[in-house]
Amino acid sequence: MEYLKKVERALIVSIPILMDDSSLKIFEGYRVHHSTLRGPAKGGIRYSPDVTLDEMKALAFLMTFKTSLLNIPMGGSKGGVCVDTKDLSKRELERLTRRYTAEIINMIGPDIDIPAPDMYTDSTTMAWIMDTYSMQKGRTIPGVVTGKPLEIGGSIGRIEAPGTGMYYILDHLCQKLNYDLTKMKVVIQGFGKVGSNVAKQLCDRSCNIIAVSEKEGGIYSPDGLDINEISTWKQKGNLLKDYEGKDITHITNKELLSTKCDVLIPAAVENQIYSKNADKVECNIILEGANSPTTSQADAILNEKGVIIVPDILANSGGVLVSYFEYIQDIHSYFWGLDRVNREMKNILIKTFEDVYELSKKRHTSLRTSAFAIGAKRLAKAHELRGLFP
Ligand code: GLU
Repeated sequence: MEYLKKVERALIVSIPILMDDSSLKIFEGYRVHHSTLRGPAKGGIRYSPDVTLDEMKALAFLMTFKTSLLNIPMGGSKGGVCVDTKDLSKRELERLTRRYTAEIINMIGPDIDIPAPDMYTDSTTMAWIMDTYSMQKGRTIPGVVTGKPLEIGGSIGRIEAPGTGMYYILDHLCQKLNYDLTKMKVVIQGFGKVGSNVAKQLCDRSCNIIAVSEKEGGIYSPDGLDINEISTWKQKGNLLKDYEGKDITHITNKELLSTKCDVLIPAAVENQIYSKNADKVECNIILEGANSPTTSQADAILNEKGVIIVPDILANSGGVLVSYFEYIQDIHSYFWGLDRVNREMKNILIKTFEDVYELSKKRHTSLRTSAFAIGAKRLAKAHELRGLFP
């Protein structure tokens, strides 16, 4: 554990960009390898004004445990640029991405570290990274990133993967607890890639999504929201707080987190459920779509209250799992169909869930403690077998 408290390496880069109005702006970016003990590092790249080196280290640490828990032969990393993407044009974002890639080029590669999308980055960002990397190496190397567009080596099902995986896990948990999934009242914080997708997946299975939110605020309807209509509204660039409809009440994020429901899905950013609001959370299950949405103090309060928390490294791991499938498909230059992607994802997620659940029953611990214990055990074994250099 001493060994895992530190990151293997971290790089801070300065990213000078020529803005569209010919002015110069300098952004700061990071790439952190937490561990390559079990294989090349793996983890997303986020663009957000809140990005700091410490945040990247913490998120890279979580990736190490996520890949180890899933037993995929990869380590953990994270990167990001401190920038508000809303302030940049598409051309400026492309220049930022290409320069950031050039600055971290020695830290990434199919057998070194494979980035993927995270907050405010997407398949277009990955295409620019893949192209910049390939241009520098003089040949096309799709396996340097995952979450790419399908036409240039992406995997079918990758965009939806965190949401699909969360649905598989929730469905399985409900079966175990004898709950009827279609009768569940669900509240979702965050309507980005993860939140909107899990909302859609659950809505398609007749769950009742009673509240959703984003940074600017959210909406609530006791009889359930029309997620398809709300998604279309969002795709037009609108905000949830301006959405009107029958029986819709506008709520703050604070109100959303204390809304009485069966399942609460925090799918926004870190530290949303913390010591001050944890006792106001009124649900049976928390399914962590975001990475680290619950602080350790809040975790203790919620465990005490008997809330079942499916931890981030298990709940949202469908994303990195299908990233791994994309990497395999790129290496083989052979692409799977959606059925195969979802079948293999479901098999691994359910098996992993069962292992975590069993251990938590056997050792009377939370699902989070069991998930970390399984991840830690594999890492410790790898370390023991490899030994310490020199
Ligand atoms: N950013 C996602 C995560 O936090 C996906 C990482 C990946 O696919 O490498 O799990």
